[in-house]
Amino acid sequence: MSYTIEGSTGSWEVVIGLEVHAQVISRAKLFSGAATDFGAAPNTQVSFVDAAFPGMLPVINRECVAQAVRTGLGLAAHINMVSRFDRKNYFYADLPAGYQISQYAHPIVGAGTIEIELADGSTRAIGVTRLHLEQDAGKSLHDQHPSLSYIDLNRAGVALMEIVSEPDLRSPEEAGAYLRKLRTILRYLGTCDGNMEEGSMRADVNVSVRPHGAPFRTRCEVKNVNSVRFVMQAIEAEARRQIEVWEAGGTVEQETRLFDAARGSTRSMRSKEDAHDYRYFPDPDLLPLVLDEAWVAELEAGLPELPDARRRRFIAQYGLPAYDSGVLVAEQATADYYETVAKGRDAKLAANYVMGDLFAALNRTGRGIGDSPVSADALGALLDLLADATINGRIAKEVFEAMVETGEHPAAIVDRQGLRQVTDAGAIDAAVERVLAANADKVGEYRGGREKLFGFFVGQVMKAMAGKGNPGLVNAALRKHLGETGE
Ligand code: ADP
Ligand code: MG
Repeated sequence: MSYTIEGSTGSWEVVIGLEVHAQVISRAKLFSGAATDFGAAPNTQVSFVDAAFPGMLPVINRECVAQAVRTGLGLAAHINMVSRFDRKNYFYADLPAGYQISQYAHPIVGAGTIEIELADGSTRAIGVTRLHLEQDAGKSLHDQHPSLSYIDLNRAGVALMEIVSEPDLRSPEEAGAYLRKLRTILRYLGTCDGNMEEGSMRADVNVSVRPHGAPFRTRCEVKNVNSVRFVMQAIEAEARRQIEVWEAGGTVEQETRLFDAARGSTRSMRSKEDAHDYRYFPDPDLLPLVLDEAWVAELEAGLPELPDARRRRFIAQYGLPAYDSGVLVAEQATADYYETVAKGRDAKLAANYVMGDLFAALNRTGRGIGDSPVSADALGALLDLLADATINGRIAKEVFEAMVETGEHPAAIVDRQGLRQVTDAGAIDAAVERVLAANADKVGEYRGGREKLFGFFVGQVMKAMAGKGNPGLVNAALRKHLGETGE
């Protein structure tokens, strides 16, 4: 079920490679001790190193290196025990040194893989080419003054991981799945918060098109796209543009483009520069970065269970469908919550409650799982009341909603509102008799062969019992009464 775009000359395949810039979670910058908090007042987190004062020397931040190594391990990638920092030279107002310290020929992390899950349940392994460490630039503010631009250097020097994929992606859906999966892995690892709105994860999207099976063609790079949805839209728009160019007999030129979300199209920003334009050379202020085997092993031992492993465990341990498992492990906090609820209980029912009622309640109340109005223990207690037949399934839904409203323990709600399930045979028989007597015409139709009416009777009896009848016993009593008098 491959993704193709029909042009006027035939069908086209889309080829995508992503370069993701992920801001490293670290209290200090890559080469200075300045802080990295988001949203601080402009230029309050800038050291002399970040401002590129003459004579200042960069000193590598060990924690940023650890974060890059953890990420590499989390992507099942090769860790390069020796890597090197280069200067990437270019002029930009918010780049005070006139160069960015980056890793070019010798990145800290080599080839790895990200497994993506698609809507049809299939999975694909997408190649990661490399991950390297580099500095972020500052930020130019053009909207603060009518004729001046302001510069905020708070971000200058913050550590970024650039994670480059192979051109393995073939559709907007796959690119979206890749980004979501990468974000999940980074969050599990605690190496990047993955917050695209705040710019801590941004993607450069490389797109080309080709007739099926033909060799790769020239790509264009759409810069700095800041949401998964925009990445998917940018791919579609850019692919269609390129197809039009090729079909009109033109040639796609390698260039850097920008995505205009309001127009849903990309536009040219500049012709693409090549590596030699940057005059890369090894940064003479920094020694090669040499990792210690034991230290890397220690970092590896400290990794959490990662999303793919956890998803497989959920399938095996809880007998959940792959889809449920994928949804539940997407956020660590959700997976933890689920495991607390599922422990020693009906695991599928727990999944249904978390993915259904709980997610709906969180959506409605605008809360995250971290400040859920219903705790995992309270939801577990509700499932216990169901399991020991204190309440029936329908009442459980009501109790859950009351828990969302009041934050109360389910047992308290059941007691106060008198919601205990009625299992008393006499009470059920009485309700059945009343309903059948009041609906003599329908009883006649039922006996005449309209068996569908059975559901109607169940509904009426439940209603007569304020929803509290034990469904199994109500069914049995109805069958008995309808059958007996029907002989
Ligand atoms: P650059 O620094 O020039 O952007 P990189 O090697 O850092 O080069 O990144 C190249 C990106 O472009 C990778 O993500 C790669 O997968 C992708 N790419 C390479 N060739 C193609 C192509 N023909 N179509 C689409 N993407 C491509
Ligand atoms: Mg690039």
